[in-house]
Amino acid sequence: APADMLPPESLPRGRLTEEIRDAARVLGRELSSVADAISRAHRSQAAYGQTLDKAASSIDAAGDGETLKTIVGGLSTATRRVQRENETLEKKLDASTKEVARLREHLEQVRRDAMTDALTNLANRKAFDEHLAAACQQVEADGEPMVLAVLDVDHFKRFNDTWGHQTGDQVLRYVASVIGRYGQLPRIAARYGGEEFAIIFPRESSKQVEVALEAIRKEIASRSLRRRSTNDELGAVTISAGFAVRRPGETGATLLERADAALYASKRTGRNRVTSAESLDIAA
Ligand code: GH3
Ligand code: MG
Ligand code: MG
Repeated sequence: APADMLPPESLPRGRLTEEIRDAARVLGRELSSVADAISRAHRSQAAYGQTLDKAASSIDAAGDGETLKTIVGGLSTATRRVQRENETLEKKLDASTKEVARLREHLEQVRRDAMTDALTNLANRKAFDEHLAAACQQVEADGEPMVLAVLDVDHFKRFNDTWGHQTGDQVLRYVASVIGRYGQLPRIAARYGGEEFAIIFPRESSKQVEVALEAIRKEIASRSLRRRSTNDELGAVTISAGFAVRRPGETGATLLERADAALYASKRTGRNRVTSAESLDIAA
């Protein structure tokens, strides 16, 4: 695949590792403070037990009301202390539960970020690879069909050279928004490389996919773009696409290779078109 330029990862590996290390530190701190609180409570319960034992034997020996009063006074002091310890423990557990929930939410966000392309908000390459492998396994197990499409912006280098990288980025966002609209669940749309996109079509036929890809191609080609900052008329961009129907037992890697070959055929035969891998088989 001519994935010459990968999208900037939304969360570099170094930062992800850092986040996980931080999370582990917070979790460790929470757990040890809960353990401390529990052992403090444990000690004071044991002391409470001893106080009760002592009181029980003193009551047996108690001859007068004064002694009994002292015993009861000691008991209520001990009871209050144990109650306080339990309240502290409860509060500590409550705070820790909240902290752990917050931590889990944060890690889920980190994971979502690590799977999302920051420019387009589509699934990134890493997420795409995982989705592709999972989808292949799933349809294989279910005996269902599946199609993979790859889409690439035509002459995008020229566009960048003419209008600049920033405007190029805006165009990528626009193209991604169209692809994302057609690539909604259960389909998966991803930014696979710099100006390359992919859509996984689980449980769909070649015909359905061709209809969707043609709709994407036409919509993008028919819209004349305008640069927001200067109001310059940029004209329309076009995309080329290729798709392949998964063969029984086929892995994501060869499916992607065949879809890529179909994309390449679209480029070779004039761009702004959709080609199926099957049509290449027939031609060969
Ligand atoms: P083709 O029709 O054969 O696909 O031609 P092309 O110029 O689109 O293909 P090529 O692979 O030669 O160039 C892709 C260009 O896409 C190179 C680079 O300038 C541009 N590009 C890749 N990633 C980004 C990006 O994130 N932002 C912008 N603005 N441009 C990008
Ligand atoms: Mg291109
Ligand atoms: Mg390309």
